[in-house]
Amino acid sequence: MKITTILGARPQFVKASVVSNAFKHSSIEETIIHTGQHFDAQMSDVFFKDLNLPQPNHHLNIHSLNHGAMTGRMMEQIETLLQQNKPDWVCVYGDTNSTLAGALVASKLNIPIMHIEAGLRSYNREMPEEINRVVTDHLAKLLLAPTQIAVECLEKEGIYRGVHCVGDVMMDAVLTFHHRAKETSYILDKYNLNPDSFYLATIHRPSNTDNNERLSAILENLTKLDFPVVFPVHPRALNQIKQQGLDNYLNHKQIITIPPVSYLEMLMLESNCSGVITDSGGVQKEAYIFQRPCFTLRNETEWKETVYAGWNHLVQPENLRDTITNFTYPLESPSFYGNGDAAQKIVEILIGKEND
Ligand code: UDP
Repeated sequence: MKITTILGARPQFVKASVVSNAFKHSSIEETIIHTGQHFDAQMSDVFFKDLNLPQPNHHLNIHSLNHGAMTGRMMEQIETLLQQNKPDWVCVYGDTNSTLAGALVASKLNIPIMHIEAGLRSYNREMPEEINRVVTDHLAKLLLAPTQIAVECLEKEGIYRGVHCVGDVMMDAVLTFHHRAKETSYILDKYNLNPDSFYLATIHRPSNTDNNERLSAILENLTKLDFPVVFPVHPRALNQIKQQGLDNYLNHKQIITIPPVSYLEMLMLESNCSGVITDSGGVQKEAYIFQRPCFTLRNETEWKETVYAGWNHLVQPENLRDTITNFTYPLESPSFYGNGDAAQKIVEILIGKEND
């Protein structure tokens, strides 16, 4: 069976690390197309190197464009490659422009699509990712949902066929790489960090970075917490901080500004911090897996179960400090994301389809 995987952004490298390795140990032959959406050493190369992700067979080098131009250019090149490769399936992950471009092209070429992380919904159509997810789910033939809530979201949209709740491949990734992170990462020493005495912050969603009032409120409120905040700055956030003249926060004594870190370093920061402040999807989930309080700078989240369980609070920047102070640790953390065998289940489903 031939599968062509289309990926291009940081969270997709993390997800693919476990799935591509499961493909490697099966009869599946994978071709990887890297769109180039994330392209530099810290946002891309380090993931391929640290996570044993097979090198892409094709690199499209498409980045730093508006949504239409980026998706359109990706589609053009993906179409040519899929016509040459003629895969049995196209595999896409999550909710980026690379996901959408791959799904649109594959569907027009009548190549079945498998969508890993299907069924996620924030119900906020102003989020570009929400559009990408909804369209991809409606085009996919195999919908690999991480949770039962995701399955229910698909059912609400009339999608029943091809849906499998396999667990979350990011859970697989944490279980696969946490041990290696503990053995090889020195990030705590590098920045003089003691466990449980720093917060970890990541922001990159346009709704937080592209509005001056919002971005400055976030940065200002990060300076008011009881511990310093380690802030690995996403390139989009860095550009916006500079463009908006907020550079003074990058040198603030309460904010430890660092470049984006590798996944192994991130696991060390997440598992040792006293709380996570984020607008990332994946980071909310990882905070939950490590049982760290999470404060999400958004009005809604697609990872609703973390909120229902009491570990994740949706918060406005000005309420950050009070919400952190009043946080009470839930007594339980149900295992929403499976037990680390999602990638294996995906392979078994595919092999089962081949034998149908
Ligand atoms: N991540 C990382 N280094 C960083 C920030 C995030 O390795 O400096 C990882 C994080 O652990 C998670 C993934 O990147 O696995 C999340 O990606 P991101 O926040 O960019 O995207 P989202 O999940 O919001 O789509």
